[in-house]
Amino acid sequence: MAVDFANWSGLIRSRPAEVRPVATLDEVVAAVQEASANSWPVRVAGSKHSHSPVLHNDDGLVLLTDGLVGELTIDAGAGTAQIPAGMKLSAVGAPLWDAGFSLVNQGDVDVQSIAGLVGTGVHGTGRQLQSMSEAVVDATIVLADGSVVSAAADPDVLEAARLNLGALGVITDVTLALAPAYHLHETKWREAVDPVMERIDELIAATRHFEFFWYPGDDSVRAKSLALHPGPPDPMPESEWEYVDRAHIVFPSQRAVEHTEMEYSVPRADGPECFAQIRALMQTTFTHIEWPVEYRTVASDTSWIGNASGRETVSISVHQTIAEPHEEFFRACEEIFLSFDGRPHWGKRHYRSRSDFEAMYGEGFTKFCQVRARLDPEGRFLNPHLTSLLT
Ligand SMILES: Cc1cc2nc3c(=O)[nH]c(=O)nc-3n(C[C@H](O)[C@H](O)[C@H](O)COP(=O)(O)OP(=O)(O)OC[C@H]3O[C@@H](n4cnc5c(N)ncnc54)[C@H](O)[C@@H]3O)c2cc1C
Repeated sequence: MAVDFANWSGLIRSRPAEVRPVATLDEVVAAVQEASANSWPVRVAGSKHSHSPVLHNDDGLVLLTDGLVGELTIDAGAGTAQIPAGMKLSAVGAPLWDAGFSLVNQGDVDVQSIAGLVGTGVHGTGRQLQSMSEAVVDATIVLADGSVVSAAADPDVLEAARLNLGALGVITDVTLALAPAYHLHETKWREAVDPVMERIDELIAATRHFEFFWYPGDDSVRAKSLALHPGPPDPMPESEWEYVDRAHIVFPSQRAVEHTEMEYSVPRADGPECFAQIRALMQTTFTHIEWPVEYRTVASDTSWIGNASGRETVSISVHQTIAEPHEEFFRACEEIFLSFDGRPHWGKRHYRSRSDFEAMYGEGFTKFCQVRARLDPEGRFLNPHLTSLLT
């Protein structure tokens, strides 16, 4: 009998035959072998925070990895940590700090699983900081035949594993390159949007991390900068806008209200004009959308299908409440993003097809599809969404 399965927002729903928790490597191997013997498709879920249908299938088995946790193993000499795949980002910061390390960067929230972050190429903000996938130096993967491989043993497999869409196999741990432990000084402020955009390059260059949310209701910006600080933590009680703490405490925000989201990455030089056009669209045509627009930066990388592959990037996110329609608004935004050569976040909404991704990533996309087909020739880890994009 099929079971109900939903993502975090509740807007993406499916009815797989079975949703099964897994807590050990042996349980993962047994589940994958059983699925292969019965020709069941398999999807693997972390915290289910993706807004795209990457997790979903009205058939087969969904493996839940919340229990695939345990100790993380730090190699202080190499500056790396091997982290169980299901461990939430919120559980990683303290043990790393105790060993003298922090993650190089983090995104808006810390509820995702480690493998889920890598699954869709999650990023934070920072002029010189790449996506979290770029910190991956190894991963253990259970393939469709139940064999267990180390991604680092094959450079192509490692590159594909860095941003894998859950399409290679079940990842049971991820090894990340770390930074020496650091404190951050957070400063938040409100300001009209025009003066912020007039000095946007200056603001981005001034600190390790800069981002803003533009609120269409009052045409103002809630800006945030995070600067390296020597520490120790300082709550700065005299100011409600500033404080200093350990990096993993400062990075995450609360995103309690369910919503759905589209995010595109555009070349950094085009960020201001692209944002101006989204702002104009919301001020003229979609005046009922109250949700803010987020503006962040990501450094260029050499990944195959990463949003910042080969170019300095600005990511722009638009949101809508789950109670109201979003598609007409998102499609209109997508037209603007595409006119700036935009690339959609793999874990958020888009309306693109395989040929679009081929054009966006060229040879990198072909290589990713080839490695996927080599590791999973029968498509055990595909669902209709991934089949349409990757085969
Ligand atoms: C409130 C909110 C805030 C967000 N903030 C950001 C942000 O700041 N920056 C950003 O870039 N994105 C952000 N996102 C998007 C989201 O973080 C990503 O889509 C992320 O992949 C979700 O992680 P997860 O653990 O929930 O993974 P899931 O959504 O559960 O899965 C994501 C992908 O990873 C695969 N996967 C998960 N675990 C495994 C495993 N063990 N083995 C193999 N494959 C696996 C899945 O099959 C799927 O393809 C946000 C989303 C929400 C809802």
